[in-house]
Amino acid sequence: MIETDNQKNRITSDFTKAIKEFELYEKFYRTLSDNGIKYLKSLSGKYKQILSNIQKIILPSIKRNCPTCNINCCHLSSPELSIYVAGTVGGFSIVDYLLIRCDTVLPEPYYDNVEKNLCPFWKDGCVLPVDCRSYLCIQYFCDKLRKELDMTLVSKYLEKAKLVLNKFSIGECMV
Ligand code: SF4
Ligand code: SF4
Repeated sequence: MIETDNQKNRITSDFTKAIKEFELYEKFYRTLSDNGIKYLKSLSGKYKQILSNIQKIILPSIKRNCPTCNINCCHLSSPELSIYVAGTVGGFSIVDYLLIRCDTVLPEPYYDNVEKNLCPFWKDGCVLPVDCRSYLCIQYFCDKLRKELDMTLVSKYLEKAKLVLNKFSIGECMV
């Protein structure tokens, strides 16, 4: 994709907003009481277990295909084939961020990647633990992977993850 100046400016502006929003997620997390963290942990375990189950199914295909793939789906150069969007950091919303953050400190994002249109959690692959991905990232499968995977099983787990996210209440974690 050849980027115009307008596209580049829009990506930079989207990303600047995304970084601020991501920092607010962490600030919010730090204001939570012990009860709030307890509530988060009660849902986080389920979310992470579901992500681990999905990863067990998909990792063999990922290891087989991704290292030699010339489409890096964590890059903005092929937006139609990409999971990474400049309006987020790592695809996180506040809900999945809080669920994975409550018992895990994430690696620092490499914000220099933004210059290369790359997700800030990418460095020779995703640097996030396998059970600490955003829902946006975990639900993405390219055609190549879809052909190899039992997508019925994967979809079943994705639905379960969605149920956990839908059940989440910001109000309850502020108690
Ligand atoms: S998920 Fe698919 S498109 Fe993305 S790097 Fe792997 S093989 Fe390539
Ligand atoms: S968080 Fe990981 S999987 Fe998601 S876009 Fe970034 S590098 Fe890719």
